[in-house]
Amino acid sequence: MAGRVCVVTGANRGIGLEVARQLAAAGDTVLLTARDLGKAEKAAAGIGARAWQLDVSDPESAERFGREVGDRHERVDVLVNNAAIHYDTWQRAAGADLTVVREALDTNLLGAWRVTQALLPLLRASRHGRVVNVSSEAGSMASMGSGTPAYAVSKAGLNALTKMLAADLRSERILVNSVCPGWVATDMGGPGGRPVAEGAASVLWAVDLPDGGPTGGFFRDGHPVPW
Ligand code: NDP
Repeated sequence: MAGRVCVVTGANRGIGLEVARQLAAAGDTVLLTARDLGKAEKAAAGIGARAWQLDVSDPESAERFGREVGDRHERVDVLVNNAAIHYDTWQRAAGADLTVVREALDTNLLGAWRVTQALLPLLRASRHGRVVNVSSEAGSMASMGSGTPAYAVSKAGLNALTKMLAADLRSERILVNSVCPGWVATDMGGPGGRPVAEGAASVLWAVDLPDGGPTGGFFRDGHPVPW
């Protein structure tokens, strides 16, 4: 499926970088975004992608990104909302630092929401739009305890957003899905997780869904994950 215009957030390292690398290698035009332009440029240069500044927690940055991408591209075919923070393993819900919770919600939930809104006219122009929200089983209500409260609540919110956007955009043939990459050995996941290429493959499965494929779902490695 070469020739698409693909946006990946938080793509200067980890799973986002690997997703961007694989898309660029397949012949897609990849807008590799990072909150630090220097980091984006360094990452993009190595893989044949285009570097863009985008801080998903900053409404002005998201709005400017949407406008400037629209100046250069007629459409966006793929948006991977990958950027995330605060895998807060040190907290429990009852005593959680709400400043940390607020930051997690602003990046992990509202970040995906505002970037999707900023790119919506361009996704609509695609006619084959795909929005992939990189979530986590930590956000599954079916397996939720009280650990990682900021992160888990933000990912549960992201899953809710997936269902709502999917319902809104179904008639426009934009597929919106949540994907869990599994436990992956990145800065966030730490050592011991599976290779980053396997986590990226879980994400790319949803990127590469055919027209008429599932929307409003939650998947890992192409299989449904309980909400
Ligand atoms: P990393 O911590 O390795 O990378 C996170 C990326 O997000 C970095 O590029 C970081 O940029 C970026 N980022 C953070 N805040 C912002 C922001 N405000 N604007 C733009 N970019 C931002 O994480 P992973 O690669 O492991 O995770 C990728 C996705 O996969 C996340 O959504 C995560 O929740 C999910 N996931 C990961 C798992 C794992 O085991 N690794 C398990 C389940 C889900 P910077 O370098 O500037 O900090």
